[in-house]
Amino acid sequence: MTHDAVALEAALAEAHLPALLMSLVHLTGDASLLTAERRPTYVLLADGRAGGYPAELQAEIRARAKAAIEAHLDGAPLPPPPSPATVRRMMDWVAGADIPARYAPFLTEELALDGTDAKAPDWSSPKLRAAGAKMKVIVVGAGMSGLLAGIRLGQAGIDFTIVEKDADVGGTWLENVYPGCRVDNPNHMYSYSFEPNHDFPQYYSTQGVLLDYFRRVADKHGLRRRIRFDTSVEEAAFDEARALWRVEVKARDGGREVLEADVLITAVGQLNRPRYPDIDGVETFDGPSFHSARWRHDVELAGKRVAVIGTGASAFQFVPTIAPKVARLEVFQRTPPWCLPGPTYHHDVPEGKKWLLEHVPFYGKWYRFWLFWMLTDGLYESVKADPDWQGSPQAVGEANAVLREMLAEALRAQAPDEPDLLEKIIPAYPVGGKRALVDNGVWVEALRRDNVDLITTPIERITPAGVVTKDGAEHAADVIIYGTGFHASRFLWPMRIVGRGGVDLDQAWNGDARAYLGMTAPGFPNLFILYGPNTNIVVNGSIIFFSECSVRYVLGCLRLMAESGSRTMEVRREVHDAFNAEVDAANALMAWGAPQVTSWYKNATGRVSQNWPFPLVDYWNATVAPNRADFVLEAKVAAEA
Ligand code: NAP
Repeated sequence: MTHDAVALEAALAEAHLPALLMSLVHLTGDASLLTAERRPTYVLLADGRAGGYPAELQAEIRARAKAAIEAHLDGAPLPPPPSPATVRRMMDWVAGADIPARYAPFLTEELALDGTDAKAPDWSSPKLRAAGAKMKVIVVGAGMSGLLAGIRLGQAGIDFTIVEKDADVGGTWLENVYPGCRVDNPNHMYSYSFEPNHDFPQYYSTQGVLLDYFRRVADKHGLRRRIRFDTSVEEAAFDEARALWRVEVKARDGGREVLEADVLITAVGQLNRPRYPDIDGVETFDGPSFHSARWRHDVELAGKRVAVIGTGASAFQFVPTIAPKVARLEVFQRTPPWCLPGPTYHHDVPEGKKWLLEHVPFYGKWYRFWLFWMLTDGLYESVKADPDWQGSPQAVGEANAVLREMLAEALRAQAPDEPDLLEKIIPAYPVGGKRALVDNGVWVEALRRDNVDLITTPIERITPAGVVTKDGAEHAADVIIYGTGFHASRFLWPMRIVGRGGVDLDQAWNGDARAYLGMTAPGFPNLFILYGPNTNIVVNGSIIFFSECSVRYVLGCLRLMAESGSRTMEVRREVHDAFNAEVDAANALMAWGAPQVTSWYKNATGRVSQNWPFPLVDYWNATVAPNRADFVLEAKVAAEA
């Protein structure tokens, strides 16, 4: 391989130095590089690339790395891999923290230095192969988690069909095409662990880039031929006598059909059924109006008076994008979002950094590990409630109050001369009460524009001419855009899922969806829900990680059925109930569970039905494999065996 010293130096200038130091240990075999002075110090919410190292140390690490990388490119063999004990120390070093021992197996798997895909199913034994070949699974949805389920089922040799209501794969990344849509998790982590992409053009990819990524993965794994596009699942009913799911599907052309499968996996997300606000007069508006997830690109916004209702994650992205082109923009805010400083939010990944990710041994692994660790527990402790907290209800504990002040200060710095605006945009609820949004300044910049107003007076009604607020003011608009979120707590709706005894899951849940580990419900054998109740995250981790854990668990359940010769598998009610009691108790001690907070994380009963309240390691541990005692397994009858 040819290389050029100048280009290498430029690339090293972009490096995440603690990750580079770890590569250096691999390249040289010299663990003595892990000195106390080289242990990074990170400042909460700040860019950690330089590891807090003084300039001379930065230069020294780059110079050593340059020599080692050049030698490697010139063909020098890699020394033997570092010992497990050294790897364990390296984890602490790159994290800049003493990682608790209980995290080690979990993080070792995530790091995957041996290049293995540890969550892939191993169905290589002839017995399992044979059992898998006889199993039939239907997956609902070809978004991030449905594709993942397809990949894993394919690896296990299980016959499966994915039913997808849209015409393509991608789920949320196919449907949300609003201007400015992008992921707000760093992409080098928001990607399947087994399908890294060193070519993400930006740190936080835009919708089109992510859609391409998921399309590519679907193609690479040959999934398209297993997907029935343009087909919706209307109802799935469990046939107890035959121990299979009968799934009624409707094609876009109106054709109906019943498909049958031993196992049903739903992968429909929590956020794909737009919720329009229950404001009087919504239907009376004369001009075009649409939801952010049903963006109408045919509606020209240039030169128009636009009203936006909602200031959640979606509006936070499209408001700054459309503000410069519209004549007038009125943003109607009910509750402001907390913002997390993210200076690289719109930045390109420099070419040099891409080069390092691609060519420097283990650099990408450690860089991802660092992102993973920072997002695993970085903010988790700061959004935990202290039950003895006596301070302001605007925080839930001391650490939360400190974080609040840091984030409020970051907002103040963006509009120091606008106390009225600051009054509106600094939330009164605790940080972590709702999803905090990655902020590089464009939101406040948009709100400060001459053609933009942030209206906080509650909305009275919508009229043919626009929006009327409770103070009687009429806000004329040509277009109304609803950034009002999704029917998140109605899990699986509008599908009708019917289990044992003809019980309808939606009715059984009665507005309060619960499941064991987010995936299984008593009375609904052989049904597995991905991104189900209490598997959403607020400040720690990525949903892809959750899906990878869930899908491994589901494949583990199928394996248990195959190995035990069972036709059905159903979680025990007492296990399910005990788990949910623990979840509820823990959610009550998180910022999002605080009584003074309202959000889509809480359902109509006030219970937090969306979020996982524990550290990520606990979900990982709970989902490595199913515990047989948690389930009732029903043996196959002789003719089926
Ligand atoms: P959202 O976070 O639920 O925000 C909805 C907004 O509409 C809130 O500001 C809400 O105010 C407001 N609203 C709802 N009903 C209203 C009413 N009747 N009157 C006035 N205001 C009303 O929805 P979203 O922005 O679409 O985001 C949903 C979730 O999707 C996010 O939390 C995130 O998980 C995901 N998402 C992710 C990304 C990303 O990764 N970049 C981007 C977009 C969305 P209140 O807060 O007062 O209820």
